[in-house]
Amino acid sequence: RAEAAMFNAKENGGDRFSFYEEGMSSETELRLEMENHLRHAIARDEFRLHYQPVIHLESNTLRGVEVLLRWENAALNNPGPDQFIAVAENSGLIVDIGRWVLEQACKQVVAWSNAGLKPLSLAVNISAKQFISGDLLENVRYALSQSGLAASQLELEITEGLLINDTSEIRDTFSQLKKLGVNLSLDDFGTGYASLSYLKRYPFDTLKIDRSFVHDIDSCEESVTLTNAIIAMGHSFNMTVIAEGVENLKQRRILRERHCDMVQGFLYSPPLQADQFVAWAKRYAEM
Ligand code: C2E
Ligand code: CA
Ligand code: CA
Ligand code: CA
Repeated sequence: RAEAAMFNAKENGGDRFSFYEEGMSSETELRLEMENHLRHAIARDEFRLHYQPVIHLESNTLRGVEVLLRWENAALNNPGPDQFIAVAENSGLIVDIGRWVLEQACKQVVAWSNAGLKPLSLAVNISAKQFISGDLLENVRYALSQSGLAASQLELEITEGLLINDTSEIRDTFSQLKKLGVNLSLDDFGTGYASLSYLKRYPFDTLKIDRSFVHDIDSCEESVTLTNAIIAMGHSFNMTVIAEGVENLKQRRILRERHCDMVQGFLYSPPLQADQFVAWAKRYAEM
């Protein structure tokens, strides 16, 4: 790996990496190398957007998509978001990358309705860095006006990590986004430390039950009980509840019995490229 890193650095013509030494931890090397590649990823057109369908459970109809970022970088062996998002966040590059994702995805969803698909909601993952330092409100306004997407079609997914700081700046951005008509979604619900208190303080529209709970509801009674409680609590706060990571019919049946509003997961479809998604949506509508 270290050799590969040096080789790539040389290939890119950067002597910036000449400080590489035998003893340097490979993790640090990889992070630096990745950061260097990330810096050029937009200009080099290496990012792709994939879209995962979000299904309304009671009617079984397609309601929207979640956009998920993919990075085609052969030198780094196409790292997944679980590898590169953290590097993008720590380096601050996520602000530019996140803006790009937002703009492209808004345009895509409008293009789909222009091409005859029914209007879909669009969920976009937003990092804390974007929320705090990235003119998020301005970027959202611009992405909406440039694409023609209705604010009510857009849902911003944030994780509670952001809210730990609970500054007035965050509260401000939050309420201004709400005023704009954009929906806010609490992602990975149940995995953090203080989820419940955030529900009291922030008016989320949607709550996404983390995959780790959904994963074993078909085999574990405790997970059913927890999921059931999360759904009931979400509804008592007037939130839409989405279960992510639904992989089989038994999980789906249990969630439906518990009146979970929406589901997404491999049972329906993995995240797909835009054209694959259109084909999927047409087939799904005919089923
Ligand atoms: P997330 O927001 O919790 O996204 C859901 C993840 O679960 C996605 O992984 C998706 O591909 C995966 N998934 C969906 N259905 C299933 C299923 O049925 N079973 C299993 N096992 N997995 C399923 P992905 O695409 O690798 O993304 C990982 C994380 O990276 C996301 O987690 C999100 O936190 C982050 N991410 C992805 N794209 C973006 C982005 O554009 N901006 C930001 N800030 N973060 C992003
Ligand atoms: Ca998400
Ligand atoms: Ca999630
Ligand atoms: Ca996650």
